[in-house]
Amino acid sequence: MNREIYMDYAATTFVKPEVIEEMKLYFNEYFGNPSSVYGISRSTKMAIIKAREKIASAINANRDEIFFTSGGSESDNWAIKGVALANKERGKHIITTGIEHPAVINTCRYMEKQGFKVTYLPVDRFGTVDIKKLEESIGKDTLIVSIMFANNEIGTIEPIEEIGNICKKRQILLHTDAVQAVGNVPIDVKDMNIDLLSMSSHKFYGPKGIGALYIKKGVKIDSFIHGGSQERGRRAGTENIAGIVGMGKALEIATLNMNRENKRLSYLRDKMIEKLLKIPGTKLNGHKTNRLPSNVNISFDSVDGEILVMALDNEGICVSAGSACSAGAIEPSRVLKAIGLSDVRAKSSIRLSLGAGTTEEDINYAADIIKDTVFKLRENNAKWSSGKF
Ligand SMILES: *Cc1c(COP(=O)(O)O)cnc(C)c1O
Repeated sequence: MNREIYMDYAATTFVKPEVIEEMKLYFNEYFGNPSSVYGISRSTKMAIIKAREKIASAINANRDEIFFTSGGSESDNWAIKGVALANKERGKHIITTGIEHPAVINTCRYMEKQGFKVTYLPVDRFGTVDIKKLEESIGKDTLIVSIMFANNEIGTIEPIEEIGNICKKRQILLHTDAVQAVGNVPIDVKDMNIDLLSMSSHKFYGPKGIGALYIKKGVKIDSFIHGGSQERGRRAGTENIAGIVGMGKALEIATLNMNRENKRLSYLRDKMIEKLLKIPGTKLNGHKTNRLPSNVNISFDSVDGEILVMALDNEGICVSAGSACSAGAIEPSRVLKAIGLSDVRAKSSIRLSLGAGTTEEDINYAADIIKDTVFKLRENNAKWSSGKF
C-alpha cells in the first residue's frame, strides 16, 4: 500500500493533540454560557480572556483589540464592509490587490455594487505588490487599503511594514489578510502600523470555524453580526468557547516553535524546489526567498495541473492545483495570471504546502513520485498527439 503524504497545509491543518486536549473540557465540564453569572460560566469567561491574551501577544496587540469570528472569511468581510460602512461619509474608495483571497476580492466586488470604488493593484512577476502604484492610487476619498500579508497560492510575503508606513503617513486604514502568515512568520501590528488583521485557527493547527479580527483601538468600524453584547457589542452570538480555547492554545504553540519550525520547513521547501527543478521543463512560481517557509508552487511544461493532482492522489500524495478555494473552477488561477503567467503555464502548475507532519523522507519520496508521474503524463500526451494510442 502507498504511503499517505499530506502536502496541502495551506488549505488546512490537522488539530494538534495538545489543542484537542485543552478543548475537551469546554464541551461538557465547563459548558456554561459566559454571559451568565454562576460558577461554570466564570470558568468559560476566564478561558476566553486567557485565549484572547495569548492571541493578542502573538501579534503584539492588546487584549481588547482581539475580536473572535467564525474564521478568516468572516474577518475579511467584517474588516472591509465594517470600515467602509462606518466611514462612508469620508469617502468611498477601497484599495486592494489582484492576488487577494476570494474572501477579500469578492467582498470588494460586493462593495463596488454598493457604490464604492475599488482599485486592484498589480503585482510584479514574483507577486510583490507595486508600492509606487499604491502611493499613486491613494486619494482624498480613500478609506482603507487591504493587502494580504502572505499569498496562499505562491507564498509571496508582501512588504506590509512599508505599506503600513505609507498608510499611516496618508492617514488611511490598513487591513491585512494574515491568514497564511499568523503562526508562521513574525508579525508585530504596532511596528508594522497595521489597523486591522484577519486570522484563522485552522491554518495553524487549531480547529476550523474559529478566527479573529484584530481591530486597533480607535478604529471606526460597524458591527457585522448584530445581536447580544458579546465581544464588547461588536460581534454578537454566544461564544464558540472550545474553538476559542483551541485557537489560543494552537497559536501559543505555533509562536513558541516558530523559529525552529521555520528553519526546518525552509530547508525542506528548498530541497523540494531543488529536486523538482531538476525535472526538465519546470519553473518555480513566486519569489525564490521572500516566500512562506512552507510554500512550493511549480509549473510543469506539457502537463495539466488538475490531472497531475489527480494522478498524485492515486499515489497517496495530497497537493492542490491553484488554490483549494478556487478548485473545481476550470479558470486558470487569478494569482498566477497576475504574476504574468500564460493561461497554459498557469494551468500546468501545482502547489505543495509543507507543515508539521512533513519529514525529509516525505520530500524525497514525494519528489520521486512527482517526477515519475510527470514523465508518465508527458509520455501519454505525446502518444495522444502523435496518434499512437
Ligand atoms: C484560508 C484563507 C482564508 C479563509 O479562511 P477561513 O477560516 O477558511 O474562512 C482567507 N484568506 C487566506 C489568505 C486564506 O489562506
